[in-house]
Amino acid sequence: MAVGEYVSVSSQRDAEQADVEREKGELACQPQDELNELAMIYVKRGLEKELAMKVAEQLSVRDRLGAHMRDELGIDQASLARPMQAAWVSAASFASFAIVPISALLVAPDGAGIPAIAAVSLVSLAVLGAFGGHLGGASLGRAALRVTLGGALAMAVTAAIGRLFDVSMG
Ligand SMILES: [Zn+2]
Repeated sequence: MAVGEYVSVSSQRDAEQADVEREKGELACQPQDELNELAMIYVKRGLEKELAMKVAEQLSVRDRLGAHMRDELGIDQASLARPMQAAWVSAASFASFAIVPISALLVAPDGAGIPAIAAVSLVSLAVLGAFGGHLGGASLGRAALRVTLGGALAMAVTAAIGRLFDVSMG
């Protein structure tokens, strides 16, 4: 699970890294073409041509590669995909999946085991989802909601299958 996460985020980052390298080469070989290209991007976003050229020039003085990454490639340097973090979150969720329900079962009063496991698992999923969203730069609430709903759905399916199995055994 964590390994899969590492591989998928790694390959995403490799692709982004390749784009950045290609952009570096273009900036070195054809600086004027690249400046015009950047200005055209701002024109398409609604700036007048002269203003777009001025914006492109000034942004290029400050951080030329950064401007091209952000506005041409849509890559934000601060949020370049981080495979190790994604793998850690994934590993942490997997571990908590095993530990949390078991401890819930141990402390829950007789007869309340299953609902207690479900409730505790969903809360831990929400926390992990928010944490993952935080690392990925996404909205905390939405990330937590998505992971929690996914977990609830998985539990519902598991319960339904369990019931089917019971019936066919009965
Ligand atoms: Zn460019």
